[in-house]
Amino acid sequence: MKKDITSAQLQQVYDLGCLFVLQKISLAEALDQLVDSLDMNQTSATNYMRNFVTFSEGKVYKRAMSALSYQIFLSRLYNDLSSSEFEQVIKSVERHLEYRWSKSKAKHKEVRALVDSYRAKLAQQAVSPVYPDEVSVLPSEFTEGSIKQVTINAYERNPKARAACIAEHKAICQVCNFDFEAIYGAIGKGFIHVHHKVELATIGESYQVDPINDLIPVCPNCHAMLHTEEPAMDIEKLKLTMS
Ligand SMILES: [Zn+2]
Ligand SMILES: [Zn+2]
Repeated sequence: MKKDITSAQLQQVYDLGCLFVLQKISLAEALDQLVDSLDMNQTSATNYMRNFVTFSEGKVYKRAMSALSYQIFLSRLYNDLSSSEFEQVIKSVERHLEYRWSKSKAKHKEVRALVDSYRAKLAQQAVSPVYPDEVSVLPSEFTEGSIKQVTINAYERNPKARAACIAEHKAICQVCNFDFEAIYGAIGKGFIHVHHKVELATIGESYQVDPINDLIPVCPNCHAMLHTEEPAMDIEKLKLTMS
């Protein structure tokens, strides 16, 4: 009987796949690691690596993957890629599903639902501005550093929290008072970044963002300046720094 691939193996396929895409290791080295240390068989290791690399680049692939693979790969790619890159991945999964649909409809329902939920996330994101640190591109910036930064901004990107923050504070920079609509007219209406003031190290698992006290609207310039320190600089300190 065919053994199902485990979650630990999939995380490893992801990590090795990234290293391979970044040309840090060869395909043979990646496969050796999967077969030797993770006890995958050569065929499924090869299939998984090929699929991962192809679909992480937004290309069409034909071999089936388990629903668990999609859960793991998509959630990590969602964090690691920019929205436009991630959209390419989603498109390639959709094309794959079209190809597979006729063969086993039931099996792909779960994946279809997952893809739809990411589609919805992308649609919500499209109304938010692009953050400078979101513009990370595979393969050049597929590093831990960029992954961390994107994680920090998960609170800042949360569309509901953003909307609540802006409803309270207005879409005006709370550091320098820049108002995009006043300067750029209609195209600037509602444009603003939202900065998350709470230090991540102090956040526990049950933390829920308070959009009014924890988030603050700032222009992209001030936002970038706040993040020149880690943890991010205090708003008041930045105000004092400005001349
Ligand atoms: Zn500002
Ligand atoms: Zn910020």
